[in-house]
Parts: sequence; structure tokens; C-alpha cells
Amino acid sequence: MPELHQNFVAPSLDLPWESDIIALRRDFHAHPELGFEEVRTAGIVAQRLRDLGLEVRENVGRTGVVGLLKGAKNGPCVLVRADMDALPIHEQNDWEWKSKNGGKMHACGHDAHTAIGLCVARILTEERDHLAGSVKFMFQPAEEGMGGAGGMMRDGVLENPRPDFALALHVWTPLPAGQIGVSSGPVMAYADGFQARIFGKGGHGAMPEQTTDAVLIAAHVVTALQSIVARNLKPLDAGVVTVGKLEAGTAFNIIPGAAYLEGTMRAFSPDVRDLLTTRCREIIETLPRAFGGRGEFQFIEGFPATVNDEDVVQRLIPALESVAGAQNVQSFEPTLGAEDFSLILQEIPGCYFFVGARNPAIDAIYPHHHPKFNIDESALPLGTRALVAAVRELLS
Ligand SMILES: [Zn+2]
Ligand SMILES: [Zn+2]
Repeated sequence: MPELHQNFVAPSLDLPWESDIIALRRDFHAHPELGFEEVRTAGIVAQRLRDLGLEVRENVGRTGVVGLLKGAKNGPCVLVRADMDALPIHEQNDWEWKSKNGGKMHACGHDAHTAIGLCVARILTEERDHLAGSVKFMFQPAEEGMGGAGGMMRDGVLENPRPDFALALHVWTPLPAGQIGVSSGPVMAYADGFQARIFGKGGHGAMPEQTTDAVLIAAHVVTALQSIVARNLKPLDAGVVTVGKLEAGTAFNIIPGAAYLEGTMRAFSPDVRDLLTTRCREIIETLPRAFGGRGEFQFIEGFPATVNDEDVVQRLIPALESVAGAQNVQSFEPTLGAEDFSLILQEIPGCYFFVGARNPAIDAIYPHHHPKFNIDESALPLGTRALVAAVRELLS
């Protein structure tokens, strides 16, 4: 056993799949692969699904895998999605199962999602004779910003058969282990990007009168962009404008003639999304003129908001309560993060829910995408049971 905090409480391992799921997740964790490079992961997934007797399609949306489980009776089709990609982060944990691929890490928990998806397939396959309908398992590449779900959709993941419902979960360290967060309506945000180029006139750092200082203009633009949420957005609406990248200049004594900015805009509604986009464009294109410069704005379309279907959520809550306990199923405060499962939920009614993975006793306290990210592995059996219960409910 690896070194763990002494207060670590191992998840109960009373069923064969429960020890399997821990081993599976740790194996995926040790071998992280970036978006569209999930060859090893997808190979294990496809082999396991084939071993279960499912109809398997590989290389769907490049490195995605689809497995179809047909129940003995007719009924609806439920899509269960798991993402498989890791992040370009150097892991700072020291587990036995820490990343063996330097500079790559499962720092968002998609290793857990892949393991959970496989165990859900295993459990539901054992119940095949009682299933009224089919379950389509979607193991997708490149969730982290590269739109792996969209590629699988273009390759037909939503056809033959077309799912009637779609389910996905995320293990979540902001939420204590043992809890499930689920809500109807938007749970994640529209996430668009923008690029801005600011043009002035460069020159000597001691002779500003001969220049148009692009750094000064960029600083005013960044400040003015923060007035959008503060002064243009209705206070009870949610929105974010973040400038995450700002580049200008080459030396301390040169006034640069150009600056470059990148940022992200987040919103839950199309109206707020339009407002943020319009105001960012107006500020970036017009404010530099007041300084004698010029600004260019480029919109970069991202993912839509992740919106859960009200009816599906209402059906699922008792099912989730049956596995986690009623007191442990909470409504979930939406986050302004983004998720490409939103593309699926635009077409298929469904639910994206959160499974708690926080446990200070084992230092599972770090945010997602942190080099010390870690989960309480009790989220694996809980997430598995939750998805199995959700599928059973939707096929009932
Ligand atoms: Zn992530
Ligand atoms: Zn993630």
C-alpha cells in the first residue's frame, strides 16, 4: 500500500467490482494521456467493453470509444458519458500510482470517470436480462477545452440508436466525499474567449511624448473590462470577464507599440452572454482611440451552458438518494466552469451531477487542475452506484 494519511478510511470493498474500480482508476492515474492522445486508455476501455460482450466502436471522434449494451427487452436508450483525458500538469503527489508520464496528470479526475464508466458497464451487463432498453457508453477524448464531445457527435455517437436520455458525472473536490450535488437548470456556464490586439506607437522610455503607449492603453482596457460585470450586468445575474493573458514590451526602457490580451467570458444565459460579448467588443475597439491608438477584438466561441433537464432531475433525485442517503443529496450551486457535455445536453435531455471527493484527512482538498489534486476514492463506488441507479430509473 502506498503511504496514506493515517486517518484515511478505505472505501468498503465488499463487491468484486469495488476493488477492481480502485485498481482501474489508479492504473489510469499512473498513465495519463492528453486530449486526442488517449490511445492506451481507449484501448483498455474498448477491450473491457468487448470482454463484456458489448457492441464496440473505436476511433469515434478520433480516440473516443462507444459501447452499446442492449437489454433483453425493448425500451429507451440512455447515454452514459465518461471523459478520459488528462492535463499538461506535473504531478506533485507522491502516491505509488502517481503519474508516470512527466508533465501529464489526471488533475481533473477523468481517470475516476473512466473507471466508473467501465464499472457501470460491468454491473449493467450483469443485469442485461432485466434491462428494458439499451445503454450507450460514451468514452470521450479531449474534454479539457478541445471539444472531444463535438467530434464524437460528428462521428455519430448520438445515432443508431439515438439516446432518449444522457447522463454524466464529475467527481468534485469542492464537495465533501459521500455527497452528491444535483440541480435542474444551468449547472455550468457558457465559456467563450476573446483575443484583443492593442496598437499604439513605440519609442524611447524617456520620450513618451513621441509615442502612443500600448501598455498604458492595455492597462485601461483591462480596468474598463472589469466595469462590465460591475456596471452593465444586472446585480442578480451571474457573469465573469477575466483577462488571463497580457503581453507587451521587450525591455524596461522601451515603450511598446503593441499589446496583446486574452480573456474568457462566462454566463449562464444567452442574454448575459450577448451582453458580455458586446461590451467587451465595444471597450476593446473604442477605448484605445481615446488614447490615439487602435484596438481589435476577436470572439472565440466556446462551449454552451450545461443545462440539466428538470423532469430528468426530478426522476433521478430519489434514485440518487437511495444510494447516497437523502441527507447527502444536495442541490448544487452552479459553477461558472464549463463542460463539453453541454453539447450533448443541448440535444438530449439529461443530467450532469457532482460526486463529492473532498477529504481533508487524506489531503484531498485541492481544486481541480492543481498539481496536488487528489480525490477520496469512496467517490468511485458512490459514483458507480449513482449512475447505475440513474440508468435503472430512466429505463424503468
Ligand atoms: Zn478539468
Ligand atoms: Zn473535468
